[in-house]
Amino acid sequence: MELRLYDTMTRTKRPFEPIDPKNVRMYVCGPTVYDFAHIGNARPVIVFDVLFRLLRHLYGEAHVKYVRNITDVDDKINDRAARDFPGLPLNEAIRKVTEQTGKQFHADVDALGALRPSVEPRATEHIGEMREIIERLIAGGFAYAAEDHVLFSPQAMNAANSTLPRYGALSKRSLDEMIAGARVEVAPYKKDSTDFVLWKPSKPGEPSWPSPAGIAAQGRPGWHIECSAMAWKHLGEQFDIHGGGIDLVFPHHENEVAQTCCAFHQQRMANYWMHNGFLQVESEKMSKSLGNFITIHELLADWPGEVLRLNMLKTHYTSPIDWTMKSLEESAKTLNDWYRFAADVAPSTPAASVVEALLDDLNTPQAIAALHGLRNSSDAAGLSASLRLLGFLSESVAQWEGRKRQASGIDAGEIDRLIAERTAARARKDFRESDRIRDELAAKGVVIKDGKDSDGKPVTTWELA
Ligand code: AMP
Ligand code: ZN
Repeated sequence: MELRLYDTMTRTKRPFEPIDPKNVRMYVCGPTVYDFAHIGNARPVIVFDVLFRLLRHLYGEAHVKYVRNITDVDDKINDRAARDFPGLPLNEAIRKVTEQTGKQFHADVDALGALRPSVEPRATEHIGEMREIIERLIAGGFAYAAEDHVLFSPQAMNAANSTLPRYGALSKRSLDEMIAGARVEVAPYKKDSTDFVLWKPSKPGEPSWPSPAGIAAQGRPGWHIECSAMAWKHLGEQFDIHGGGIDLVFPHHENEVAQTCCAFHQQRMANYWMHNGFLQVESEKMSKSLGNFITIHELLADWPGEVLRLNMLKTHYTSPIDWTMKSLEESAKTLNDWYRFAADVAPSTPAASVVEALLDDLNTPQAIAALHGLRNSSDAAGLSASLRLLGFLSESVAQWEGRKRQASGIDAGEIDRLIAERTAARARKDFRESDRIRDELAAKGVVIKDGKDSDGKPVTTWELA
């Protein structure tokens, strides 16, 4: 079976054909580093990590390049820096905010079992490429300088008699309707209401760089140009897959397409545009004001990262997710069982049923149903390999159980000792003693379960009631 992916640009699920199978290239919009990442931000990280792993499985690890950027220049970062470090010069405060937040982001997504991308470019390290794209756009008649800003003109793009895509093609919006629906107050430096910023002047004290277009004042880039520049630098003028959350389709991705295609005279920026659906919490939109805003960091205090990962993958990536406590608890139960059954077993190869589900536009709910099938048919080696393909089983059973115990604050050594005593009592058929120990454990809130491992040897496992 071949890989098929849903493409937002054509609104169809199509067979995936890489431009160069020896160098499959994917770009995903990464975080703006000003605060802890929330569980919604974890969704694109996990979804595109599964795709990265699948592509490596299909084309070979050395033949897939995954770029996920870090946006480290943004108004939200400046505001946060001024708020959190009022005593420091702004640039120093900004460095602190982006360093701390970047580190936290890495700790969070590592715990979710996400591989690091092949390259993680930072916007501030690609200002030269941004200036170059801007110069090309001005030379091509697609952009202009006004009052120390540089603006991109979608109307100039659509007036060009060429093979360029139409502005609005990705988000299926008509430029004429955008013009008609524009607000009355338009920034004075814009010729048309639909023009968007490529470059703007910096306020005193803000991060600033020499401007393009002969502008004397120092300035800084707009958000959209950052991704066009980083994708170009690391993946070239055209590449295979561009991903991100559904909220980024307009204006961010529409504008990336416009910038890149007009600068390099391309018909396409990426051949497949993939967007994950949104995540809400207990049936409500996540927001700080509703008090249901959950960070990955907070969740990791209560749940192993792989539980969050499994919980995320139970829903197909294009559908909305309702993130609930109930579903998390179920995911934890499932993963506990899979760990005990398969984590210490040497993996065979990933099961065809699992791989085929993933080939069908990353159908992870179906892949998970196939994992349950492997468990039910006692294929521990197949389950082990399939779970690993999906980014699970990074720990041994002992590590997994040990971490759960640590998190619960229970003395694991004491419990292990009691279980060993009970096993010995059962071996000498002293059932009164073995029952007494079971009750003692129950009084501590620990439930034990007698079962068999994949080799048929008796084992006693435990969990909290
Ligand atoms: P941001 O830092 O807000 O630019 O978001 C980083 C990534 O997380 C982008 O790909 C967003 O589309 C995605 N994202 C933000 N909020 C959610 C959410 N509630 N559900 C799913 N994805 C989200
Ligand atoms: Zn982007």
